[in-house]
Amino acid sequence: MAEEPQETEQTKPGFQNPVAGFGVTFKAMFKKRLTEQYPEQKKTTAPRFHGRHQLNRHPDGLEKCVGCELCAWACPADAIYVEGADNTDEERYSPGERYGRVYQINYARCILCGLCIEACPTRALTMTNEFELADSSRANLIYTKEQLLAGLEEGMVDTPHAIFPGTDEQDYYRGLVTQAAPGTVRQVAVSKGEVPQEAASTFGEDEPASEKVIGR
Ligand code: SF4
Ligand code: SF4
Repeated sequence: MAEEPQETEQTKPGFQNPVAGFGVTFKAMFKKRLTEQYPEQKKTTAPRFHGRHQLNRHPDGLEKCVGCELCAWACPADAIYVEGADNTDEERYSPGERYGRVYQINYARCILCGLCIEACPTRALTMTNEFELADSSRANLIYTKEQLLAGLEEGMVDTPHAIFPGTDEQDYYRGLVTQAAPGTVRQVAVSKGEVPQEAASTFGEDEPASEKVIGR
């Protein structure tokens, strides 16, 4: 014998359907609201949230990145591009032999997994709590070293500049350098096309040498 069809929303008499619909609305009125007023009210992230990366500095302003590319090799999404270069006494960016001359992270590829920061031997690379990374252009999603490099805190001098006198690279990692030595000044970044003071003076009076030399 055939079973009697059970009554469903579709098989209810026509006048009951709207009432059933209002029942759903009525129940929802007493539930906790999930609406977030973003971007006016931003949610606080967890302390160890994986957000935008940051390239850190030593307390005197020198960069921690040594251009070793380990972060790039560890990245499963091939999102990091690094080119290392040698420091010189005239143009020094990090305490040791090498520094990261070019550093890029492509946020169109990055999945914010954090494997790169685990791979970094100097703790140069860490992640911040910043999560607003959306953009309408792929080019804008490639963050350069200038965008990723940490800002200058008190006691820091912008790179390039000389190592703290009387110390070596190991002293930086032992935490013995706590700020730039008195009198530390930023060097001329010839590799970035800056012009040394003597050469700049040939530009004439209209273009003072001091303004030609520094400016990043
Ligand atoms: S967080 Fe993950 S995907 Fe993003 S750059 Fe680092 S290793 Fe690559
Ligand atoms: S961020 Fe760290 S792992 Fe990446 S190149 Fe610099 S020092 Fe090496």
